[in-house]
Amino acid sequence: MAELEPIRLVDTHCHLDFEQFDADREEVLAAALNNGIVRVLIPAVDLATSRRAIALAEQFPAVRAAVGVHPTSTAGFSNETLAELRDLAQHPQVDAVGEIGIDLYWKTVTLTEQVHAFRAQLALAQALDRPVIIHDREAHASVLAELSAAAPSAGVVLHAFSGDQAMAETALAAGYYLGVDGPLTYKKNDALRAIFAAAPAERILIETDAPYLTPQARRGQRNEPAYVRFVADKLAEIRGQPLAEIAAQTTDNAARLFRWEW
Ligand SMILES: [Zn+2]
Repeated sequence: MAELEPIRLVDTHCHLDFEQFDADREEVLAAALNNGIVRVLIPAVDLATSRRAIALAEQFPAVRAAVGVHPTSTAGFSNETLAELRDLAQHPQVDAVGEIGIDLYWKTVTLTEQVHAFRAQLALAQALDRPVIIHDREAHASVLAELSAAAPSAGVVLHAFSGDQAMAETALAAGYYLGVDGPLTYKKNDALRAIFAAAPAERILIETDAPYLTPQARRGQRNEPAYVRFVADKLAEIRGQPLAEIAAQTTDNAARLFRWEW
């Protein structure tokens, strides 16, 4: 039997820069580190959060950043926006472009504007050889179509995967990673659990999406990176694997996609 090793987890999608953490950001990060979370990746939703994510990555060694404009913030996305993203993306603490994609739930920005910004950022990721973090809300077919035309060769993660089994199979066949969060622990989500019970272990990334998507065990509270453990525990349970194995595998997956060296 293998020796017991400390659990090493990562949170590949955490909005630690959001105002919900302004009062206690350092404590929240310390709690994560104390619970075996060795790295936290902050995705951006616009230019301001891209800069904030980079600033936090400069401040804390365990933090890394992504830069990008979220689909609900793409109104007015211009060549100037793209030029600034290109500059920010070359910062040494930036590992990905994201979160980018299509959101047909909020309907605050036209699909035309969202697609324009999505395509521009996919091309940017390809030009800079960076992976992309994809936001897809009620836009599965459109997102898959855009990716099949222009997914960057450095890789893709479908963050907070919310598609069905057929979409998961399409995404896995295309080589994408599937991101899984607190909803894996919600009582109603048997279909999501079936998808993640069957997915190849080497293609799963665990995330919190904190401060959102709090796992069942802490539902009603603000989510935080330490709670990625609840997602890992549920994955271990539904896959019938030891937690240490799930932790090591998903951490390796993140390191492969985001090119982390320890
Ligand atoms: Zn997010």
